[in-house]
Parts: sequence; structure tokens; C-alpha cells
Amino acid sequence: MINMTPYSTAGVEFSGNGYREEALETNPFLIAQRQLEEAVEILELDDATHEMLRWPKGEFKFAFPVKMDDGSTRVFHGYRVHYNDARGPAKGGLRFHVKETLDTVRALAAWMTWKTAVVDIPLGGGKGGVTCNPKELTRSELERLSRGYIRRVADFIGPHSDVPAPDVYTNPQIMAWMLDEYEVIARQHLPGVITGKPIALGGSQGRGDATARGGILTLRETAKALGMDLQGATTAVQGYGNAGSYGHKLGAEILGLKIVAASDSRGGIYNPHGLEHKDLAEWKRRTGSVVNFPGAEAITNEEILELDVTILMPAALEGVITHHNADRIQAKIIAELANGPTSLEADHILHDRGVYVIPDFLCNAGGVTVSYFEQTQNAYNYYWSESEVHQRLEAKMVTAYHCVRAMAERMKVHNRLAAYLVSVQRVATAMQLRGWV
Ligand code: GLU
Repeated sequence: MINMTPYSTAGVEFSGNGYREEALETNPFLIAQRQLEEAVEILELDDATHEMLRWPKGEFKFAFPVKMDDGSTRVFHGYRVHYNDARGPAKGGLRFHVKETLDTVRALAAWMTWKTAVVDIPLGGGKGGVTCNPKELTRSELERLSRGYIRRVADFIGPHSDVPAPDVYTNPQIMAWMLDEYEVIARQHLPGVITGKPIALGGSQGRGDATARGGILTLRETAKALGMDLQGATTAVQGYGNAGSYGHKLGAEILGLKIVAASDSRGGIYNPHGLEHKDLAEWKRRTGSVVNFPGAEAITNEEILELDVTILMPAALEGVITHHNADRIQAKIIAELANGPTSLEADHILHDRGVYVIPDFLCNAGGVTVSYFEQTQNAYNYYWSESEVHQRLEAKMVTAYHCVRAMAERMKVHNRLAAYLVSVQRVATAMQLRGWV
């Protein structure tokens, strides 16, 4: 066991080998560190390797002012974390969220490290964010916030050092403002500094639905491996943002899933006869929520997770499946389109109950995979067709899925641990080759 330096995190003090147990259900960074521990033990990695993998390589936390439309100034708190760049530049999204803390960003940056490794793309892991409620900001305030963020992190990011992208409550328009601000500072065009851009500014075909498409491909491979027919399989989508909405669309189109429930931050809806993607997406666009969708009954955000369905897609935020509800989950397969939806204890409960989990950093790796394709296209300034992107994405996702599955069978461990074993070994090897450890 390694010695930990006492470390103060977002409201949680921990030191030595003692964790505060309750924090293991609520602090995603502690969860990420614990998940890693299991893999490190099995791989018999040395203490220095473990310590490097346990902490971000660097992090930047800052306050910055933004002029509001009414002439006042508000100060926001921003973060950018480089978790590990042994395999390539740090890579990962930016979240604008009221509950963003340094620890959530660290956890998400760690998961990006394992994500880029599991799909074997030459990138590391990073993440960033701003503590804010973007729903309360006007478009011009959001633009000034985005540009202000980039002015602070400009020295910390770059096409060959750290490349941001969209995540929760950030989108291609925000990436466009950020790209523009960065290029003003750099005095040259550098489209590879950020991904998830609008296509007109060097974005890639197929990036919009890539996270969900990758997840649906892992679900297809799961069904083949388990000998299941998913045609008409009932599905609940928890979280109806980019990943959840496209998960609905592509799940129905590619696999013939019958989506019977959906939810967002305002509540959930259920219709046993199935929900049409086109109608529900249009409803959400018009009203801002899936709530009150005609013909569906209202359910709560807790109820949607416990519905009697074949597939559950958590597609919102971390920490929704915990020891409180894991033994009530009835789905046979959980396809984790969100980052970190399942706590450590819940993982064990689900595994013991025979629920098949497609772990987050494998299931949702399609987004960053197409981000990598976007950067590749930016670098040689020549762009691929949508079908080329789809083919390359499919090859990456299928290979990664079967690599993790083979590891799970060989080591007799659950899928999340298997995915960790694959990724952590790859990152550790890169660190060893660089002579870091
Ligand atoms: N935010 C996405 C994720 O969590 C995409 C990251 C990226 O494309 O860099 O995987």
C-alpha cells in the first residue's frame, strides 16, 4: 500500500490509507481512485506507477470575471485538469454545471485517460469545467464566459498538449467561440486545439451522434456475445441530452430497441407502447424537457432507473446507481452512456446479481474516438465522409469491446475491472517506456 499525502478535496479530507466510507458513494474522484486500486493490485504495478496513475499530472483552478448583460460583473470558478499524457496529449470535454468541483473534474479526467487507452487512440486524459448554471445565462453571457475561460487556459491547452471538447451543457457553438478566442490569442489557425466543433469550422462528420453510436455498437456486440435478440427490447433512457437522445434514435434505428421511458433533470415519462424519437426530440426542443410528453405517464428520476426493462441507459450525470437502488434495478443490461453513473458498491451488487454492465469509459468512448478523427482531419486539412467516419468508429469500438470481453473471461472479473486492466496496463507501459517509472 502506498503512502498518501494528506489531501484536501472538495469538502472531503482524507489521508493515509483511510477513506471516509460515505465519500466513496458520493465523491467521484475517490471512486475513480478506488477503481484503479483494484486493477493496480491485479497487474502488480509498483508504487511509483500507482502514485502517478492515482493523481492528475497537473491541474489548474482559477477564478475569472465575466461581464453580465446588466452591466454587473460575476466571478466564476474554472478548472482544467491534465490527468495523464503518457500516451499523447491530454484529451477531454468541458462541463458547465452548477455542481462542478475540482474533484468531479479530476475523476472525469481520470476516466478520460482510461477511455482513450481502451479504444487505443494516441491521446491521454484531461477534463475541464466551470461551476455555473448555463440555463440562467443569456447567449451573449455564455459567449463571454466561454471566451473568458479560454483566455485563462490558453497556456494550458494546445493541439499538441491538451485538447478540450463538449460535455454536459456545452455544445458545438461554445466550441466555436472557444476556437475563435484561442486563434485570436495564437494569431494563427489551429483548429486541432478543440474538437466537437461545427462542421463549417473544421468539425468532423459523425461527431454529433458519436457517443451514442459507439454505445449502441457495444450493445450490439453484447447481444451477439450473450446470444440475445434485442429487436423490440424494452429500454429506459435516463438523461435526454446529446448522448441520451441519440441513444434513443440510434438504439431504435440500428438495433430495433423499444424505448419506453426517458427522463431529464425535470422528471421522467413512461409509455409501455414505446416512444417515437422524432416526436420526443421535437417536444424536448420546443418545451425544454421530456416532461408532459403527450400519451406518456409521469415517473420520477428514481423510478426510471428501477423500471422492468431489458436495457437501462444512464446517460446523464455520475452517481445515480448506488447501494441504495442497485438491488432494485431490473434491467438485464446497463449501457453506461454517462460518465461514472455507478458507485463502487453498486458495481459489486449488480455483478453479484448477474446484471451485464457495459462500463462507461468503454460504452461512451465513441465521442472521443471521433474527436480523435476530427483532430486527424484538422492536422492534414482534408475531410472524410460520414460513412468513412462510421466505418472507422465501428472498427475501434468493436475491437475495444472484444478486448475487454476477452480480458473479463480470462481474468474472471466483471467488465469494469476488465476494462481497467486493459487501459491501466497500456498507460503504465507508456509511462515505463518514457522512463517516468
Ligand atoms: N466529453 C466526452 C467524453 O466524456 C468527449 C470528450 C472528447 O471528445 O474529448 O468522452
